[in-house]
Amino acid sequence: MRTLELLIEFSQRYGADPELVNAGGGNTSAKVDGIMYIKCSGTALKEASEVSFAKMDLKKLFRIFERTYPEGDREREAAVLADMMACCTPGEEHKRPSVETLLHALFEQKFVLHLHPALINGLACSRGGEAEAKRLFGDAIVWVPACRPGYTLAKLMYEKMKTAKGRIGVVLLENHGVFFAADTPGELDRMLRDMTERLTGCIREFPKTGDGGAEPGYGKKLTKLSGCEYFCYNGSTTAKAFAESFEAVKDMLTPFNPDQVVYCGPGAGFIDDVEKAGAVNKRMAIVRGVGLYTFGSTEKQAQNAMLLAEDAMKIAVYSRSFGGPRHLPAELVEFLVHWEAESYRKAL
Ligand SMILES: [Zn+2]
Repeated sequence: MRTLELLIEFSQRYGADPELVNAGGGNTSAKVDGIMYIKCSGTALKEASEVSFAKMDLKKLFRIFERTYPEGDREREAAVLADMMACCTPGEEHKRPSVETLLHALFEQKFVLHLHPALINGLACSRGGEAEAKRLFGDAIVWVPACRPGYTLAKLMYEKMKTAKGRIGVVLLENHGVFFAADTPGELDRMLRDMTERLTGCIREFPKTGDGGAEPGYGKKLTKLSGCEYFCYNGSTTAKAFAESFEAVKDMLTPFNPDQVVYCGPGAGFIDDVEKAGAVNKRMAIVRGVGLYTFGSTEKQAQNAMLLAEDAMKIAVYSRSFGGPRHLPAELVEFLVHWEAESYRKAL
């Protein structure tokens, strides 16, 4: 099979698995003859086809790591984006390659799979994550501390991989997700399965986010208070456990990863009593004794927010097996709220 066909096949397969991909998260790439096919921003993995991938010149992409860029976030990211767009091969200039293109380019291997699965993020968003990753996987993986996305992250990962021993096939990004790189899709499958099995073996408490009954009737009022038109509700065992008290909900009030900032906003609210509730200026709210709500100006927006809220519940529970949750630092949440590249993804 041709490289591009293999890439499309495994992109669709992983993209269709809700345990691995939520809304617009995750991307894939393949390299052949100095060209990298990378998933475009604003396209869903499960709908991958030939047009979902931008063809980029790898040699030109690597030159970006050697350049000096402005200090200011906005100026730097705009300059890097312009340089990155200039790496598209002729005829591909209208495409918008993933904001994570540079990270994919760093791997020598033919195929790269980048995901944000809740189980793996349970480790990547935990206080003991780095030590636990070392204990479980040794030098076979590179751990990249949480930092600003875009060029800052690409540069940091570039430095980390340069100093790592041997050929690196797995990179864990703190408060973000995981990269797998291999020369065949079968090898990617094996690597993902291996990590999933080993982490599952460490989990002492599993989330239960798919059960629970009907919405108890507060949705309409809360939606009005939020200024939105649509809501989604989750009254599962895990949602109810978080909704028990202010102490219990604490781990759900701030985001774990960029996906949550993009789809659920910079934080969640806790409502003690719906009768007395004032304006709900959040996309996600947890109501004491009731469960979790998400809001949106469209149905899709409310649903996507719920996907990521469920993801947050899972991460919060999984992280307890790795020393407890570690949230995205406030400075990074602030950065993401204003990042133009992510507003593009939200359009999904
Ligand atoms: Zn990512």
